[in-house]
Order: sequence, then structure tokens, then C-alpha cells
Amino acid sequence: MSGGARAAIHLAALQHNLQQVRSAAPGARVMAVIKANGYGHGIVRVARALNQADAFAVACLDEAAVLRQAGFAHPIVLLEGVSEPAELTVAADNRLDMVVHSAEQIALLSSARLSKPVSVWLKVDTGMHRLGFAPEQARAAWQRLHDCAAVARPLRLLTHLANADRPDDDTTTEQLALFEQVTGDLAAQRSVANSAAILGWPQSHCDWVRPGIMLYGASPFDDQTGAAQGLRPAMTLSTRLIAVNAHKRGEAIGYGGTWTCPEDMPVGVAAIGYGDGYPRHAGNGTPVLVNGERAPLIGRVSMDMLCIDLRGQPRARPGDPVTLWGEGLPVEEIARAAGTISYELLCRVGGRVQFEEA
Ligand SMILES: *Cc1c(COP(=O)(O)O)cnc(C)c1O
Repeated sequence: MSGGARAAIHLAALQHNLQQVRSAAPGARVMAVIKANGYGHGIVRVARALNQADAFAVACLDEAAVLRQAGFAHPIVLLEGVSEPAELTVAADNRLDMVVHSAEQIALLSSARLSKPVSVWLKVDTGMHRLGFAPEQARAAWQRLHDCAAVARPLRLLTHLANADRPDDDTTTEQLALFEQVTGDLAAQRSVANSAAILGWPQSHCDWVRPGIMLYGASPFDDQTGAAQGLRPAMTLSTRLIAVNAHKRGEAIGYGGTWTCPEDMPVGVAAIGYGDGYPRHAGNGTPVLVNGERAPLIGRVSMDMLCIDLRGQPRARPGDPVTLWGEGLPVEEIARAAGTISYELLCRVGGRVQFEEA
């Protein structure tokens, strides 16, 4: 039996958020980023809801295979490409497009015999310094790919921004200028923008945008919520109270006794914890909704349970609904309280949590 934690996935919210991407970047095609199990929402249900996207992007072959097996015929881009001959064969057989970011990958393609050439996005490292060819290597890489029988033409170009979530940071302008300097004269489709760039850097939109987090309704900017940008949360995480206890002044709550009752008071126990993906680092005062109204979390989050100060809700009873984030309570706020970002919280929901479409 499940512990009662549920993640309602709002399909209409996903569709609404895709529309928001389209209105923010009206000239661009949309590569919906659904890696990490659709940011924790369930990759197949997210792909179904975002059926109108022009392409899907995932991190690895297994994620792409799940989509092909589920019958999706869209272009699917492997954001990290492949690293072994067998993977390349599977990618080609499944019509997967791949990012090429290293000399090893070009060597792999050069020696491959494929059923059909693969479509390639050449990744240039303009300043993220994670994956991609250094600017001075990019032209040689382009030429080698261009000469490679296993690679379909035309080639495409891609880069990734490191600081697009900071409106006042010069890095983005510098990355865009460098990308233009290195590739400006090449006739190729380009992709640069993640969610933050879609919302904050219109000059980065190019031919294809790559929204992730905004599709799920959360803001890429750490001082804003998705709602302020017209987005709707795609996940509501909830559970129920399994106990409401009357505690005396001076009694300490939970492991380590990190919170002490300042007066005689009701304390609720909700059936969700870090074993379900709720962050253990959410401290005293982190809001939850009990019967739709805010109440503060108290004490340490444990594996299966967390405790709630119910002084503001003297009538709360076992069985009453508790919302951890989603409709009515932005996940960004919980992420801040836990010292992390919404991305991590959404990706980590799992285990016993029962997913349902709403
Ligand atoms: C994950 C990812 C994205 C999406 O980023 P968001 O901030 O979630 O919009 C876009 N491009 C690449 C290369 C990524 O790895």
C-alpha cells in the first residue's frame, strides 16, 4: 500500500506552458526538454501532453528508447550524444538526432557503418565550459562532420548559456557574440536558448529554443515564480495528515528535537518525507498547505513523515489534505527554503509517490 503521497500531473498546464514558450519565442521551433523522466513528471505522459512540440530533447539513449517504444515519431535529440559504437547503431536505427561535442564522437561517426546517416547538432562551447568544442576547434569539427558519410546534412549548431538566469550578467552577451563570431557565416539552423534565455534574452532565440523548467511551470529565475511569468505548475505534490496530536509547551518535535512547542498546541503529522523526494533540508517554517491554507513545517523532515504547526488550524483532522507544492504553493518557494532549485525538487519526486493525471 502506498503511504498516501500523490503527484497530480496537470496535462493542461503543460500545454499552456508550451503555448507560453511559443508566444515568448514566436519565430522559433520548440525542442521540449523532457530529460530526467520529464523533470520528474513522467516522460511518456509529458511527451503525450506536449505532442505539439516540434522535437523532444533527452539526455541519453534509454530515455529516447522509451519515447520511441511509446510510439512517438517526433525528432528526438540526444543532448549528450553517444559514446560507443553500439549506441550509435541504436541511435541511427531509431532515427535519433545527436549532439556532437567531442573529437571522440567525431571519430566514432567517421568509422561507423550505419543503416542511415544521423542528424547532428554540433555543440560549440562558448563559455559554459561543460560540453562542446572550443571556439578555435569548432570550424575543424564542422568540416570533419561535413565530410563524414554517417552524418546527414545539413548540420546544425548549438551552444548552451551558463548565466542566462542573471539579467545583469555580461556572460550571456559574450557567449552570444562568440557564437556569432565563430559560426556567423555558416548556413545552419541554430539553437541556444534554455528557459531563462527564452524569457530573458530574446536575441538568443534563433531557430530552435530548448525549454525545460518553464514547461513544468517553474521559473528559471531564482527571485521569481512561474506564476509571475504566466506559467502554471504542472505538478501538485500532496498527501494527508495521518495524526493530529496535542503537545504540551516545552515538548520537542521529531529527530534531534530541533523545534520546541512554545505553548500547548496541535501538531499535525503528514505522510510524506525525504523517502518520497520531499527535501530533508526544508527547515522550520517552510510552508505547506493544510486544507488549502498555509501552515509551517516544524522539526526535521524524516523519511516517511513531516510535522506541521497546526495552531492556525485548530479544526484540522487526520485525513485532511496537505499540499507540499504545486497549485497554491510555488515549488520555487520550497526550493528556496531547502537551499536548492525547483529543478532538483521536481526531478526527485518518486519512490512511493502515486502519480496521476489531472
Ligand atoms: C536541460 C537543458 C535545457 C533546458 O534547460 P531549462 O533551464 O530547464 O530550460 C536546455 N538545453 C540543454 C543543453 C540542457 O541540458
